[in-house]
Amino acid sequence: MKTKAVYRKQYKQASGRAAGSSKAGLAKSFSNKITEVVKATAGEDAIKLVKIMASGRNVSEFRIVKSAKLDIQKVRNLLYKLHSSNLADYKRVKDNSKGIYVSYWTFNKAIVNELFSRLHQEKLQRFRERLEVEAGNVNGFFICPAACSRADFIKAEQQNFRCAECGQLLAQDDNTRTIDVLREKIREMEAVPA
Ligand SMILES: [Zn+2]
Repeated sequence: MKTKAVYRKQYKQASGRAAGSSKAGLAKSFSNKITEVVKATAGEDAIKLVKIMASGRNVSEFRIVKSAKLDIQKVRNLLYKLHSSNLADYKRVKDNSKGIYVSYWTFNKAIVNELFSRLHQEKLQRFRERLEVEAGNVNGFFICPAACSRADFIKAEQQNFRCAECGQLLAQDDNTRTIDVLREKIREMEAVPA
């Protein structure tokens, strides 16, 4: 079952300008692509690490930890996430004076365009699927006035047309605007070279 926050986010994306649709018509700059890809792959905190790594090659994990001001375990987890998507490479080198291994990290920007276009295709696919659901069920959804839940007719009926989250009476949702927004979004995304 979806959490409220996830639901709200999706609802916002599909129903409004909150997702930044005014910008979507423009091709993204390379640095925006990096941010988007890194965030989608390893989360917001990883952007910090990428910025530190981008300052050179073979940046030691200790320097990354120090500059990022994050816990070493957290940094390592993020680095391995980046590594598993090929966004970062590392080598381990033995520090003979201390007798420990240190990993040195390099950001692999050559993979960014490929990952970005994959993300773009996945997102486009989700919008198309969502459009199919919405367009196949015009005005067939019921929504809570506080926007905390939405249900199709069968589900709404089972709940006696009450919101499963807050108990308020559900209202029929005019989803024609949602359909228009989704169509527009898809059109924009298809037009942008990813
Ligand atoms: Zn509600």
